Amino acid sequence: MEDSRSAQQILDNIFDVMQRLYDEMRLNKNGAGEHLRIFEIFAELGRTLVGADRASFWKWDKRHGKLLTATATGLDQIIIDDTTGIVGRALAENRTIVTNDPYSHPDFNAEVDKKTGYVTKSILVMPVANCRGEIIGAFQVINKLGDEAKFDAEKDTKRLSIAAFICGMALESDLFLADSQHDKLTELKNRLSFHSDYQLYQRRAAENALPVSLIMCDIDFFKKVNDTYGHNAGDAILMHVAKILKRNLRSCDSAYRWGGEEFILVLEGTALAGAAKVAERIRLAVADSVCQFNGDDLRVTMSFGCAEISFALAAEDNVKLADSRLYTAKKTGRNKVVAE
Ligand code: GH3
Ligand code: MG
Ligand code: MG
Repeated sequence: MEDSRSAQQILDNIFDVMQRLYDEMRLNKNGAGEHLRIFEIFAELGRTLVGADRASFWKWDKRHGKLLTATATGLDQIIIDDTTGIVGRALAENRTIVTNDPYSHPDFNAEVDKKTGYVTKSILVMPVANCRGEIIGAFQVINKLGDEAKFDAEKDTKRLSIAAFICGMALESDLFLADSQHDKLTELKNRLSFHSDYQLYQRRAAENALPVSLIMCDIDFFKKVNDTYGHNAGDAILMHVAKILKRNLRSCDSAYRWGGEEFILVLEGTALAGAAKVAERIRLAVADSVCQFNGDDLRVTMSFGCAEISFALAAEDNVKLADSRLYTAKKTGRNKVVAE
């Protein structure tokens, strides 16, 4: 695409992309989860607006100090430290950066070019803010097309601001959604998230005809930890247990904090016997572990109730079944797994 386009052609390009965006939103088949497809189209919008060869949209994970591409033309997801690169600089200083000679720019990282054989000749990066003016990401376009092949700091920034603005709004809503579906203390998903994921489990189970299992687990005598060592020690135990749960699950499994010291694990493609094995593995891992807090070695055990999900039943009824087995585990000695 050369950027010798007429104003009418540019406008037509924009309308085409906007229509794809509109259709994608309306017919969104991914359901829950991030708007990955949408960010791809946003990138296409930005690319079209300025007439660039490539575009990428970056999310800023401030807590972990990382920058992640939500989408990037021609590349898999890239994750970098937020203190590096031209994007990192633009975010740190909250300013747009334009360079038509990136190889002599002090912040340019030539690694990606080296790996892929692509030659970056010009870059425009714009920070993207949410409604409160907090910087949450960045829009980047690379290699201006056309004879000049140079970004115009004023003109191209003005054009790209349309895409940067829309991206900011979409990213902000994604962040709100993710925030509302995660537990702050353990960073696990929460109960709200379970209910929204449940529909995905149901759909995928119907498509793939694979079993899905649910494990409900609860820390034994947790109140004693709080009473003996204080509430902060209890919180440390919750974080400790959450880490063990995550460590012992596959990336396709999910762990939810259901309530206080109660968790639900969902294992797709796993039947009841497999779920009982996973629960037993986690039970042993928790029982064998030590959580150090303020010089104390804290130890806890957990009880587990397993059930294979029947999608003919409501989510609540499946949870109830696992819960009743958990109750049996509690009544018959704790620190055990009950699967029938
Ligand atoms: P059981 O073995 O029967 O499960 O006994 P338990 O003591 O673990 O259960 P109980 O329901 O009696 O007590 C749960 C305690 O968990 C009570 C509540 O104060 C505490 N709790 C709930 N949420 C939190 C939290 O976020 N942090 C801390 N520190 N404690 C919490
Ligand atoms: Mg308990
Ligand atoms: Mg409980």
